[in-house]
Amino acid sequence: MRKPFVAGNWKMNKTVDQATLLVADMLPGLEAVKTVDRVVCPPFTSLMVISGMLAGTEVGLGAQNLHWEESGAFTGELSPAMVKEFCQYVIIGHSERRAYFGDTDETVNKKVKAAIAIGLTPIVCVGETLDEYEAGKTGDVVARQVKNGLKEIEAKDAEKLVVAYEPIWAIGTGKAASAEEAQDVIGNVVRKNLVVAFGDEVAQKIRILYGGSVKAGNAADFFGKPDIDGGLIGGAALKAEDFVKIVEAAA
Ligand code: PEP
Repeated sequence: MRKPFVAGNWKMNKTVDQATLLVADMLPGLEAVKTVDRVVCPPFTSLMVISGMLAGTEVGLGAQNLHWEESGAFTGELSPAMVKEFCQYVIIGHSERRAYFGDTDETVNKKVKAAIAIGLTPIVCVGETLDEYEAGKTGDVVARQVKNGLKEIEAKDAEKLVVAYEPIWAIGTGKAASAEEAQDVIGNVVRKNLVVAFGDEVAQKIRILYGGSVKAGNAADFFGKPDIDGGLIGGAALKAEDFVKIVEAAA
């Protein structure tokens, strides 16, 4: 009942020329998989050009961050309206932003609210560090991130949210969580906390993704689990053939 969702997070990779080539390469394959919501998230500099390439297709475009204020003295930041000019989606609270750029549950919450207010669909990232995982704190950490990151959001808006569970120790390391572990956290922590926050009916509509070293070869294991509705893909989203295969695995 939830439409599968696969997004590619390109991170700080690809100039405009390179991004254009990559999208041209993957677009026919992505267009063919109509039963999956598929989204690419290139760096800000490519959003304008890529939005032109995707116009008239069903492939969505996302940014990797935004600022919650409407405008003002925030050097280096982009406002929700600036992102909305080109995008339908925005990644919020990626672990790299939390680790290197000071994103916290509180700023994630401000960004989520600002994104919703302007009509963007937030892809909200949560996930525990290796230390937290090894200390058995995954449930507590992820529950806190879901609860605080999605505070004061109305149920009518919540059903459009996308949440990505990304154990930080699995991102870019080649060491994916097992599909069983991912299902356990996504079903028993993320979705359960969404039920507490928004009620069962709304929580059952929210797409929850797994992210962390998903490849063409392991994608189907994750997407076969009952609470895993797709993936947030890093490294493998930079190769057209691999990304298309991952999208196909979600169909
Ligand atoms: C990510 O950056 O969100 C991610 C999941 O990266 P990778 O697929 O490379 O682990």
